[in-house]
Amino acid sequence: MANQFSKITFLSLFGMAIVLSQPYPVLGAILTDVRFWSAPDHTRIVLDLNEPIQYEGSSLESPPQFHLELKGVSLYFSKREIEVKDPFLNKISLVELGKDRVNLILHQKKPLNVNIFTLKPYQDKLHRLVIDLVDVVQEKKEREERQKQKEIKSKGTMIVVIDPGHGGEDPGAVGLQKTMEKDIVLKVGEKLLHLLSQNKEIQAFLTRRGDYFIPLEERIKIGREYGADLFISLHTDGSFNPQARGSSVYCLSLSGATDEAAKILADKENMSNILGGAFLRPAAFAKDPNLNQILLDLMQNNSMKESFRFAETILEDIKTFNSLKSPTYRQANFIVLKAPDIPSVLVEMAFITNREDERLLNRNDFQEKMAKTLHLSIKKFFKP
Ligand SMILES: [Zn+2]
Repeated sequence: MANQFSKITFLSLFGMAIVLSQPYPVLGAILTDVRFWSAPDHTRIVLDLNEPIQYEGSSLESPPQFHLELKGVSLYFSKREIEVKDPFLNKISLVELGKDRVNLILHQKKPLNVNIFTLKPYQDKLHRLVIDLVDVVQEKKEREERQKQKEIKSKGTMIVVIDPGHGGEDPGAVGLQKTMEKDIVLKVGEKLLHLLSQNKEIQAFLTRRGDYFIPLEERIKIGREYGADLFISLHTDGSFNPQARGSSVYCLSLSGATDEAAKILADKENMSNILGGAFLRPAAFAKDPNLNQILLDLMQNNSMKESFRFAETILEDIKTFNSLKSPTYRQANFIVLKAPDIPSVLVEMAFITNREDERLLNRNDFQEKMAKTLHLSIKKFFKP
C-alpha cells in the first residue's frame, strides 16, 4: 500500500502562483479530543475521531492500567498528559508510537472492568470511541443501596424518583447561548430533591447526581429499584422554530404518538441512547420473565390513568407562572416513561432554543419557581 503521494501545493508569492510538488504522508484518522465523565460507578472516556479506526486494548495489573493502541491515527493537539479528578482514574496519557500509532494509557486507581464501543457521527459529533471503566463492586453497591430504600420504606411514605434527562456525552437540546439541557435539568432536579426531602412522608431520589450519561432503560430500572411511587423526568424542549416556547407535559402513549410533533420529540428524546451510547450496558435491557402479561396490562392501565391525573395537575400549576406550549398533556412513545407499574411523566420545562425561554431557564429564580411548582403538584398528586 502506498503511504506516500505527491501533493500539489499552490503558493502565492509576490502575486505569482508557484506550483510545488512534494512527497507528503497520507493523513490517516485524526484524534481531535479526549473527554471524560465521572459517574458514581464508572468513568467514561470519549475519543473524538474524524473517521473510524482500528484499536487493540490490554490491561495491566500492577500498576492497574489500561492500554489502548490506536492504529492509523495522529494527534491534533499537543497535550500528552491529562490530569483527571475522578474516583477511578488518576490521569490519561498519550504516547506516540510512530507516525500513525498512538498508545492511550488510562492510569487507574484500582482494577476495573473495561467496555469499549464506537458511536457514529450524530449532529455536530464526530466518530467516537468510548471506553467505560466500570467498578462492578460499586455498581452492585449502588444497586443494593437503591433496593434497600424500597425495603426500609415505612408505611405511608411515598417514593419519588426525579430523572434529570441526558448528561455526559449527551447534552440534550442546546440553546443559542450554548446553554445545555443536561445542566439545567440537573439544577432543577436538585432543587426539587431538596424541597421534597423536607416532607416527612416523601422520600426522593435522583436517577443521576452529576454530569454523566445513563441509558433510558437504566433510568426506568433505577426507578423500579427505588420502588418509586412516582417518576418524573425533567427536560427542556428544542425546536428548529426559534419562536416555539412554553412548557409541556408528556405521558406515555401506548398506541403511538398523538400527533406528529410529539413523535418527532419522542424520537429526539429517545435518540439520547444513540447519542450517549447505551449499547454495552446489557443489564439495562434485562426483561423480567415472571411478569404476567395480563397483570402487566392492568398495571399499565392504572399507571397511565395516574400519570394523566398527575400531568393535568402539573399543567394547572405551571400555567400560574409560565406559558404553556399545549394546554393539555400530550402523549408520545418515550422509552423513559415505560415502567408499567409507576405513574410517570416527562416535563419539558421550556424551549431552550427560544431566546427568551433560554434566558429564563438560566435564571435561578425561574429554576426555583419550577421546582416549587413541581413540588406542589407532587404533594397534590399524593393527597388528591
Ligand atoms: Zn430532553
